Amino acid sequence: MALIDSHGRTINYVRLAITDRCNLRCTYCMPQSGIDFVSRDDLLSYEEMLRLLKIFKSLEVTKLRITGGEPLVRKGIIEFLEEIKAQQIMDGFYLTTNATTTLPHIQRLVDAGLQSVNISLDTLDKNKFLDITKRDQLDNVLASMNAFYQLDVPLKVNMVVTKGSNEADIIPMAQLAEHRNIQVRFLEEMPFNGVNEVKTQFMTHHDILHKLKTSLPNMTSKPFQYGSTSQNYSVEGWKGDVGIIASYSRTFCGSCNRLRVTPTGQLKTCLYGKNDLNLRNLLRNGSSDAEVKQAIIHAVANKPVDGISAERSRFTTISESMATIGG
Ligand code: SAM
Ligand code: SF4
Repeated sequence: MALIDSHGRTINYVRLAITDRCNLRCTYCMPQSGIDFVSRDDLLSYEEMLRLLKIFKSLEVTKLRITGGEPLVRKGIIEFLEEIKAQQIMDGFYLTTNATTTLPHIQRLVDAGLQSVNISLDTLDKNKFLDITKRDQLDNVLASMNAFYQLDVPLKVNMVVTKGSNEADIIPMAQLAEHRNIQVRFLEEMPFNGVNEVKTQFMTHHDILHKLKTSLPNMTSKPFQYGSTSQNYSVEGWKGDVGIIASYSRTFCGSCNRLRVTPTGQLKTCLYGKNDLNLRNLLRNGSSDAEVKQAIIHAVANKPVDGISAERSRFTTISESMATIGG
């Protein structure tokens, strides 16, 4: 039985954030210190996640993205992914990572069913990387990126464009796609920065497009793909392409096909919305799989039409860190 929301959208994609911890401190995502990480008992265990994924599979949710926090910092992640494969729960998985610690694990990730990797990288400048992430890890990220590429793992690079910080890096980052068949995507900054401080100035998708087009006049729009958040562009003579994600403007909600599960097992039917269902309680209070399934169906039926109405219905200002949701 497929999951269909009350706006007629088929929901077949789950983003599972397996930890809220991270080895970086990206300024747009987390404060540098004073973070209350959740205790281990409050995290979903791997056993609970395996059970949940089987329930999702029975609802025809077949696309799985592993995210966080930084997924690679949770002990046992590789074995967990290998177990998903061994039990044939999902047909592979997608990974979002900062790629600082992936290098030694790449072959095992591929063997466990890695279908594609999204690497978050906001600059190619060592000092600016340090400034944005508060850690000196650029060389490790670039080494991992090369290794994924050498192994032909489909690769996307995601850059959050932060006003007044890395605007000048847009073109050098886009040029990563000139000689390589990768996609470089530019994201509008969102207010999920873990501090109760709402920014009033964002670089919008229009601003980003203008910047790209000014330097790359041979850029042409590709057809929008249903279910995608990214508007992609090809550049004449380039092997890869570039994309823009209007993550703050929320222009893509009409074809949304996704759900999020937070590290503590909260189901979110919209990134901008409130928590819709406490899956962890259900998994721990003796509910049967059929009962969990019904609760998910009910939550999905009430999925907000778009991120603007979802934000309105929270009645609270967004202040949580993206690491607690999964991006
Ligand atoms: N640590 C991993 C990483 O950075 O790829 C996975 C988790 S991270 C929360 C997932 C994605 O959210 C990353 O691409 C990151 O750049 C993005 N992100 C985090 N905070 C954001 C914000 N305030 N606005 C826009 N994107 C954000
Ligand atoms: Fe960590 Fe990813 Fe957040 Fe950066 S964006 S602090 S890498 S979770």
